[in-house]
Amino acid sequence: MSKQLFAIFGNPVSHSKSPLMHNLAFEGLDYNACYGRYLLNDGAKLRERFFDLGLKGINITVPHKEYAYQACDHLDPFAQKVAAVNTIVKRGGELYGYNTDAPGFLKAISEFDDIKTVLFIGAGGTARSTSIILRDEGYEVTILNRSPQRLQSFKEEGFVTATFEDFELDTFDLVINMTSAGLEDDLLPAPQSILDQVIPTSKACVDVIYGKETPFLKLAKKFAKPSKDGSDMLLYQGIIAFDHFTDYQYEFDEIKALMQRAFLL
Ligand code: NDP
Repeated sequence: MSKQLFAIFGNPVSHSKSPLMHNLAFEGLDYNACYGRYLLNDGAKLRERFFDLGLKGINITVPHKEYAYQACDHLDPFAQKVAAVNTIVKRGGELYGYNTDAPGFLKAISEFDDIKTVLFIGAGGTARSTSIILRDEGYEVTILNRSPQRLQSFKEEGFVTATFEDFELDTFDLVINMTSAGLEDDLLPAPQSILDQVIPTSKACVDVIYGKETPFLKLAKKFAKPSKDGSDMLLYQGIIAFDHFTDYQYEFDEIKALMQRAFLL
């Protein structure tokens, strides 16, 4: 059988760990495939490029997850529900779309015990799919965001929402930074006065940003809270995507053992 080709599509795409993660797993499992990266400027061309490049599957990162959703012939029910696709596999000439970000995130946070109430700081694309899967699993999710505009769709979905101005202090088991604050700057995702109330009363904190200790994680550490960055979310979405790529023939832990080496290199 000829080598199967996979790639990550996005803009930017140079920083992505996905090629390393997937290639380590392909190599370790002796699976005849290779995974590259493709800078896609125009999301509307996603489907055309997929076929031009002779690919078997792709992951899709910012800002093309909605274009990816539109490019598929078939969608799994969760991807359909959140209208965002980060994994596409070609089968019989047709494109099948999945969202593995949200189940990857769910797996990452389910490693904390006794979590029921969750505060999301941030209301962007990542917050959308992850809040829905958490609610489907029985968590109570409150969404706090800097500006009111992005909260509208969450309100329509029935979530409790607040801006920094109208937030009513409460206690939450888990506090999550879902913003890009701290990614390329040294900002906290919310006013210190709010964080100084919600972090000490929480059981744990998570930042979806990975590979660095953000000011939010530093604060969680100061209050001696168990915490994790976004590495597990990234790893787990990759493992679930790999499972779709390779037609469900490997164990989760078998893929994990190979892929997690990408975080040590
Ligand atoms: P979006 O651009 O869709 O949303 C950004 C959000 O961050 C908005 O709610 C915005 O608020 C808020 N925000 C940005 N800057 C600040 C700031 N200085 N202070 C307060 N709020 C701020 O981003 P995404 O949802 O796509 O991504 C969010 C984060 O998730 C990113 O850091 C990304 O790196 C990370 N991520 C991690 C993944 C992983 O696997 N670990 C996977 C995907 C994403 P406002 O509405 O007011 O502008």
